[in-house]
Amino acid sequence: MSATEEAKQLLSDYDGPAIHIMEVCGTHTHEIFKDGIRQLLSPKINLISGPGCPVCVTPADFIDEAVMLALEKNCTITTFGDLVRVPGSEKSLADARAGGAKVKVVYAPSDAVDYAKKHPDEDVVFLSVGFETTVPSECLTVQQAVEQGIKNFSLLTANKTMPGAYLAMREATDAFLYPGHVHAIIGTSLCEKLRDEYGISGVCAGFTPSELLIALALEVRGLSKGKPFFINAYPRVVTHEGSPKAVELIHKYLKPVDAVWRGIGEIKGSGLALRDEYADFDARKKYSLPHITGRDNPACRCGEVLQGRCTSKDCPLFGKACTPEHPAGACMVSSEGACSAYYLYGRGF
Ligand code: SF4
Repeated sequence: MSATEEAKQLLSDYDGPAIHIMEVCGTHTHEIFKDGIRQLLSPKINLISGPGCPVCVTPADFIDEAVMLALEKNCTITTFGDLVRVPGSEKSLADARAGGAKVKVVYAPSDAVDYAKKHPDEDVVFLSVGFETTVPSECLTVQQAVEQGIKNFSLLTANKTMPGAYLAMREATDAFLYPGHVHAIIGTSLCEKLRDEYGISGVCAGFTPSELLIALALEVRGLSKGKPFFINAYPRVVTHEGSPKAVELIHKYLKPVDAVWRGIGEIKGSGLALRDEYADFDARKKYSLPHITGRDNPACRCGEVLQGRCTSKDCPLFGKACTPEHPAGACMVSSEGACSAYYLYGRGF
């Protein structure tokens, strides 16, 4: 029997105490649904969706800031498509665009700085939202703008880092399914520290069906032994040291700051902001944005979904007033969001 078949059998036959495993990463949530892995799990294995979708954990304030830049400061907003439809307190960027604002969808951060170079008469702002995986490419935009003397480009940042989130979420789960792409950058020493100092267990997982099945089976075996554990089940990509060059790039341009995560609240040192020497590329400073306190739709339960306190299907708006075509919350908009995963693949159970 292959390792994948063995993993399948273990996951469907498991009959021990109920266990909870948090898929931290939104891509894992989607792949697990899409591959039909949830259907074959024993009812004793509960998968919980976690806070690893960067668009989902970005609070309404950020969208409000982007809308203000677009409508009141006359900036051209460049962003990945997901963020355009995320509701702010009153408007989304799609609403701002309908009101005449310039909002351009780009497919890579470098497209944004290229756009600024080609349009020197526009003030171009890129919405920099992501975890350790994507932050290095956003730092490269600043490097490119500095090197090429591009003055009409800046970042509105809401980048976040995972270490604080793991600690904040540790009570919600028995073990984490660690996101392989984050740990490809930061390495695995953090996971070992979480195991040794906090008793937090987890497996670092890849993204193919076989990698996910084997990683989940390792979680079940590890939890059955009753001792904190960490296993790197994605060694073809994740190493102990990660990518020191990418980490160095992050530290060169960005510094840790406290950050608010939707549903979880403020986590000390879990955000990243441009260092003072790059203030000319910080849209908040460049355009003197005031502090904005955003308001989420009170009926939306994204905050609880992101903490594993309920599933998307517990939300009364799910599939009715909130669908991918007409999203009421970020978790339904984002291609990594738990609500969109439940809507697309999980309505049958
Ligand atoms: S279904 Fe929609 S409204 Fe409900 S929690 Fe998810 S995103 Fe929010």
